[in-house]
Amino acid sequence: MNISIQGLNKIYPNGYQALTDVNLEISEGMFGLLGPNGAGKSSLMRILVTLMKPSSGQVFVNGKDASKNRDYVRSMLGYLPQDFSFFSNLRTHEFLDYAARLAGMNSRRKRSQAVDHMLEEVGLFDVRSRKAGKLSGGMKRRLGIAQALINEPKIIIVDEPTTGLDPEERIRFRNLLARLSSQDVIIILSTHIVADISSTCEHMALLNRGQVAFTGSPEELIRQAQNHVWSIYVTEKEYVEVNQKYQVVATVMMNDGWKVTVVGDEVEGYEAEPIAPNLEHAYVYFVEHTMKNSHSYQS
Ligand code: ADP
Repeated sequence: MNISIQGLNKIYPNGYQALTDVNLEISEGMFGLLGPNGAGKSSLMRILVTLMKPSSGQVFVNGKDASKNRDYVRSMLGYLPQDFSFFSNLRTHEFLDYAARLAGMNSRRKRSQAVDHMLEEVGLFDVRSRKAGKLSGGMKRRLGIAQALINEPKIIIVDEPTTGLDPEERIRFRNLLARLSSQDVIIILSTHIVADISSTCEHMALLNRGQVAFTGSPEELIRQAQNHVWSIYVTEKEYVEVNQKYQVVATVMMNDGWKVTVVGDEVEGYEAEPIAPNLEHAYVYFVEHTMKNSHSYQS
């Protein structure tokens, strides 16, 4: 399995350029697509799942041009969109059966087995007869996951998985994805939550204002932020100044002032010590300090 994204641009009808020359190679395993809101993640995902056409550029799935082989791509795809909607009047198991039929599973016996298996897998077996509309927020999210996985897809695309999930459900969800990624599948996890990437993804890309600001492993991202994260001791008065001048990522109150962690190329005028960055620091560094001169509006 392999996805190759080449020279992708997306300009919406109103002239807004949401993606600019995106190039990515994605192979088996868990791939994290990280970026702030508005970075273009959903636009990229919608193109990948062939719901939207790029303005230019191509996506190849196992060497096949996705725009010319939509059925091929869709047959191996499981997609959990950000705003997953369903028929709230169907019972949970009926909805999954419906999703399985849509995915082309024609055998009633196989469908029934797949539905029971998925219900167990996402922990909804006990509420299988409840109307989907009556499930809790977390349960609805899990139903979304179940419908995306019912046809054993080879490419799983998950948009913002953890919004609306409590910590326990997030962990359960991550474990489910990690288990799947040990098989012969590509999982693309699109999120603005750094912690979701660090604990699960070997490979990642950072998308910022429609452009790929970084691609590699989370460890490489951290390495590239080395010597750009600083610890400074300041008085209360200085703190206001520092906050205006630098990107503050953490503040700790001490006996005689404040200890702040800031991200930046250099710190002048204060006694600053470089500290070892974590993924969150590295993310802030890249989002704030790369591509300062880029702009996404087409005139
Ligand atoms: P993300 O998923 O990273 O939050 P999106 O792909 O949803 O980013 O959006 C990227 C940018 O494109 C945003 O500024 C958004 O407002 C804009 N955008 C998204 N969809 C449309 C559209 N249909 N028409 C115009 N602009 C859009």
